Amino acid sequence: MHFLQGIPISPGYADGVAVVYDDQTDHRVEFPDRDILPAEVEAEHGRLDEALEQSQGELKQPEPAANGPAAPDDSTAVLAAHSQLVRDMAAKVKQHLSRELVNVEQALDSVIGTLVDRLCQIENEYLRSREQDVRDVGRRMMRHLTGSPRFGLSSLPAHAVIVARELLPSEAIELSRSGLAAIVTEQGGRDSHTAILARALGIPAVTGLVGVTSQIKSGMGLLVDGEAGKVTVSPSPAERAEFSKSREHYQRSLAGMVADETLPCVTRDGMAITLLGNIGRPEEVEQIGSHHLSGVGLFRTEFLFLESRERPSFETQCEIYTQVAESLEGRPLVIRTFDLGGDKFPPFLASQQSGPQPSRHLRGLRFSLTERRLFETQVRAIVHVAQTADVRILFPMVVGSHDFSRAIAAVDQAIDKLGASNRPALGAMIETPAALFALEEILALADFVSIGTNDLTQYLLATDRHAVDLTDECTAWHPAVLRAIQRVVDAAGMDCPVCVCGEEAGEPDFACLLIGLGVRELSMTPARAAPVRQALRKIDGSKMRQLANHALRCATPGEIRQLLADPRD
Ligand code: PEP
Ligand code: MG
Repeated sequence: MHFLQGIPISPGYADGVAVVYDDQTDHRVEFPDRDILPAEVEAEHGRLDEALEQSQGELKQPEPAANGPAAPDDSTAVLAAHSQLVRDMAAKVKQHLSRELVNVEQALDSVIGTLVDRLCQIENEYLRSREQDVRDVGRRMMRHLTGSPRFGLSSLPAHAVIVARELLPSEAIELSRSGLAAIVTEQGGRDSHTAILARALGIPAVTGLVGVTSQIKSGMGLLVDGEAGKVTVSPSPAERAEFSKSREHYQRSLAGMVADETLPCVTRDGMAITLLGNIGRPEEVEQIGSHHLSGVGLFRTEFLFLESRERPSFETQCEIYTQVAESLEGRPLVIRTFDLGGDKFPPFLASQQSGPQPSRHLRGLRFSLTERRLFETQVRAIVHVAQTADVRILFPMVVGSHDFSRAIAAVDQAIDKLGASNRPALGAMIETPAALFALEEILALADFVSIGTNDLTQYLLATDRHAVDLTDECTAWHPAVLRAIQRVVDAAGMDCPVCVCGEEAGEPDFACLLIGLGVRELSMTPARAAPVRQALRKIDGSKMRQLANHALRCATPGEIRQLLADPRD
């Protein structure tokens, strides 16, 4: 018996049997590779259309069994995203094969290669992880083109723990249908679709175990602890018994958590906390209702158009924002204007013919202020939708009153142009050190502010938010970040609502600490809301205040974590 320590990406406990999934042999699809004549182009297009249809058919979410559980929202969203990706890729493949006069398999292989290379170079982890989806969809289409059999994943032994170098999102969905117990992989980030799906499907998962596919053999007994990221290989009876106890405890608390999702988010001493969701795609809005959240606290709109060759039009944006607002049925929708620049640089900007090229060195609002036409169109679309729904506008990467007041002027101009009467509430993201030094001026102009702990942490601590090996020294738990949050809360006082929308707001202990610092609104990935709600319902707000005061005087993140770990009563 021995232990392997990895990175936990989906909680839960599983006692099962290893099935080593070697993607070198199981995934590879051989394909013919040849040049074609112009007269053959049409026939190749026809073959592609057939593969497209077959792929689309597979990507339909099956109807749930009569009394079976409904498919989780995230798996529906991934299948829908893949279905769209299949269509987009097919269009690119047609263009490529007509231009280069190569057979459809070769064209598909080139298109996959180009997309994967482009995505791999992106700094942003969320976007980089979409590379997995491109390979997944590409492999599916290639399989149909070549008539290769499906990978043998649908018939697993009972309690199978899949051990793989990497698992693709559609494989995770397929595996979940065949009663998979857990996932153990060498690669795959916390924000990859597979990790998101594993969490949504309730499958424990541990990653970061380099070489695990050669260390573990199929048939070995495995205990997977998705809470601690620990895998025990060939466990002893005593280890199994200990593990069962932890698992029972976890299952009891999980059942309580789901039941508690309908309860109000109020601390023991009656402090009401507003829980909101972060979304990046319209499909995700359904999760706001399913997790009983009070609205959308952050809609990252740049994700809608990052792959787009066309400038997003007023009409397209109105349609999307209206659809999201209507799905919220009266709950507030905070739309953040495009946070572009740096690594987020859509093709429609790169291929811009007229005018000066926008600077990649600016980000967020200042980038938008140099791309006036794009910015004004977006603001007009949001203002238009805000006439009939509770829509608020949030500006990213505000650095002071100068850029923020120019953004506000753009909103007023849009109101004039549309002859509108409602001015939506306007907010600034506080996520740059500069904004901390211009707080009073920003707050004098803002209807609300939202603290982006992801960027605030990296810029305050001189670190890189996308690094996989971040130590606790470089997280939002650092006292410098907590002091920054405290400054915002104090300066805002009773006049200006303060939300925290960075990833850490979805971590139960950190959320408790934020309440102690005086934050009353938290916005997070919807799937993370249940444990946060449960944790907040157990705390006493005034005691958390004392604990937060103590935390503000700590020197290290470790000391702060220890404070939270100590019994609170
Ligand atoms: C943040 O920086 O914390 C934030 C919420 O914005 P994003 O993650 O989109 O940069
Ligand atoms: Mg940010």
